[in-house]
Amino acid sequence: MSGGFAKSLLLMEFWRGLGLTFSYMFRKKATVNFPHEKGPLSPRFRGEHALRRYPNGEERCIACKLCEAVCPAQAITIEAEPRPDGSRRTTRYDIDMTKCIYCGLCQEACPVDAIVEGPNFEFAAETREELLYDKEKLLLNGERWERAIAANLAADAPYR
Ligand code: SF4
Ligand code: SF4
Repeated sequence: MSGGFAKSLLLMEFWRGLGLTFSYMFRKKATVNFPHEKGPLSPRFRGEHALRRYPNGEERCIACKLCEAVCPAQAITIEAEPRPDGSRRTTRYDIDMTKCIYCGLCQEACPVDAIVEGPNFEFAAETREELLYDKEKLLLNGERWERAIAANLAADAPYR
């Protein structure tokens, strides 16, 4: 009886495979049960955009349009006019999220940390229109994610 035939007869490959399967049952799992469990995110993670406010509620954005100018995808559209008190604020701030390539240059260009890419990556939509963000949507994102965004910016500050 040849060695190969004996191995086949005794189902050696089968038992070896089964042993390998059982050995993995007791190891630490490499997968997570998303969306109930989530893996760690870097403070530099570039997710959904948000416009931030100062703690007193005032918009951070001063309508300098640097983010609009630097955006390589030309996804940002800003219109602005002075307020009665002379300060300059946007009247329109749109981001076409279907064009955005999540490069983070808008965040890098902003002198007042107004436009940021937050930690949210769960914003899939069923229609294209839902991904055309306006100022109201971006400010709402800022309010929703401010705590996480501020913590991420603080964690990354020593390396900037
Ligand atoms: S992340 Fe890049 S592509 Fe997207 S809006 Fe900002 S600058 Fe434009
Ligand atoms: S978000 Fe920042 S870079 Fe863009 S217009 Fe406002 S202040 Fe300027």
